[in-house]
Amino acid sequence: MTALLEVEDLRVAYGKIEAVKGISFSVDAGQVVTLIGTNGAGKTTTLRTLSGLLKPVGGRVRFDGKVLTRVPPHKIVALGLAHSPEGRHIFPRLTIEENLKLGAYLRKDTAGITKDINRAYDLFPILGERRKQAAGTLSGGEQQMLAMGRALMSQPKLLMLDEPSMGLSPIMMQKIMATIVELKAQGTTILLVEQNAQAALSLADQAHVMEIGTIKLSGTGQDLLHDEGVRKTYLGED
Ligand code: ATP
Repeated sequence: MTALLEVEDLRVAYGKIEAVKGISFSVDAGQVVTLIGTNGAGKTTTLRTLSGLLKPVGGRVRFDGKVLTRVPPHKIVALGLAHSPEGRHIFPRLTIEENLKLGAYLRKDTAGITKDINRAYDLFPILGERRKQAAGTLSGGEQQMLAMGRALMSQPKLLMLDEPSMGLSPIMMQKIMATIVELKAQGTTILLVEQNAQAALSLADQAHVMEIGTIKLSGTGQDLLHDEGVRKTYLGED
């Protein structure tokens, strides 16, 4: 089986500082793959490069059979790669429904859009209950739900989630993680960046540990969850 996403020796730099120093990994259709690692490891930089927001200085990204280098961000979305960014970046003055509609800005199928808005409300009932309210009135966790719902509105073949649990209460975090499991069960392919290694490894098929711009260790989520080094460094065990 060819992978849906193949990243080969990817290098990304901010001026002279190389933040991603030649990483390779792949994501098969239907999988949840996670990148974990401490602050500054290069996880966000990797996702922003896959979305076309940053240009790599080397390597190759192939998505659904196409090479993405030099493809602009809106075309990457149209190819089926959606990004729910770190910090959520919802539009606080627009309503929840308007935010969701923005996620479908490349689509013309009005009936399909309405169907997918309702799907987002099924997934996150609170968004449906508050559909006419300004998105800025939502709690942090609810805004995360909105960011995920908005990313799904482009009907992605691959959904990239950057730190969906950041700043959330344990209960809200569990809800977000349960939603990822539900999306996977529905067949959504997910690339998940998380600092909460325990949560991410528990649900990932494949996992990669990033350290200072490189992938230091790879394995199944369960393998890494039980790896002694990972437990000490990322799961806070002595
Ligand atoms: P975090 O969880 O904090 O976002 P991360 O693993 O996602 O961590 P990145 O945000 O990708 O890491 O950062 C990788 C490296 O690139 C860090 O050393 C960071 O300081 C640097 N960096 C990130 N953005 C910029 C920028 N706009 N200009 C210069 N350096 C940057």
